[in-house]
Amino acid sequence: MNIKVTNILRRMFGGKPVPLCPSCMYDWRSACHNLDRPRVTKCDEYKKRY
Ligand code: SF4
Repeated sequence: MNIKVTNILRRMFGGKPVPLCPSCMYDWRSACHNLDRPRVTKCDEYKKRY
């Protein structure tokens, strides 16, 4: 299942959202300047790595 959908469902049912960064293709210091990386659970820039 898509990780964003998983997080939407987890929020709806009181679960803990999954961090997006470990599976994001921009999870590199030079590619992503978001200071909350690698623990972001909601991100518009997210793109699945594989
Ligand atoms: S783009 Fe978003 S999801 Fe991807 S590494 Fe950066 S903060 Fe994490």
